Amino acid sequence: MNIELENNSAPTLEKFFNDREDIQGVMFDVDNTLVVTDKYFGDITYYLGMDIAEQIEISKSSELIAQELGNKIGEIYRRNKYHPILMDELCKEALKEYLSIENVSEDIQSVLDYWLKDFYLESPALNEGTVPLLKEIRRCQRKIGLHSHAQDEWTRIKADVISEGLGESIPYFFTDISLNKDKDRWIQSCEIIDTPIENVLVVGDNLYADIFPAIEAGCKHLIWINRHDIKIPEETTIPGNVELMIVNRLEEILYSL
Ligand SMILES: [Mg+2]
Repeated sequence: MNIELENNSAPTLEKFFNDREDIQGVMFDVDNTLVVTDKYFGDITYYLGMDIAEQIEISKSSELIAQELGNKIGEIYRRNKYHPILMDELCKEALKEYLSIENVSEDIQSVLDYWLKDFYLESPALNEGTVPLLKEIRRCQRKIGLHSHAQDEWTRIKADVISEGLGESIPYFFTDISLNKDKDRWIQSCEIIDTPIENVLVVGDNLYADIFPAIEAGCKHLIWINRHDIKIPEETTIPGNVELMIVNRLEEILYSL
């Protein structure tokens, strides 16, 4: 079953859960689902690009160089099928391709070090809908867990910010970026809320790292936050006993389900 949700077309979240008593918990992807990671990346790479522009001799404005470098980073990320890459590595790769160089100079490396030194020590901002949604899920007495595709330390920092917003500690599970966020990782993530994945609603923004592997793991209810209006590949069949709901923004889960 594949349901496109329209604004105000469906009942409330409480009714949603009442109608699906098999759902005992909700497991959230973190980046670009509960926290605004894209903007965090975009802002830092833009400032970094502006600074790099000062170091190189290209007859373009700093703004344009920063923008083009940002596009190059996006291109590498897409080419890597949205698998996370450590920022220093990602930026270096982008610079090498953008400037057609073999290695980055010491000057460029110091700009990278300056802009990236705190990157994994802070959390991207919470999505606007995160706190109200999590509070409503807890009011409906469902468990909540987090499954991030990032290193332990950065996941903990993000989980702390999310927990603080909710006002209670939320358990988290991380899949290190050297690994794939696959079926087995999704099954293991649900163990932190003591609930089999068959009884968990999975919410994520990535078809290949969240939605498809969670279905493969046996998840029966999923919400895909499809911010960029991506089409599900035609060759993909969603099993008939799986309920996949699609929204454009996290907030719609609260107001439109
Ligand atoms: Mg994500």
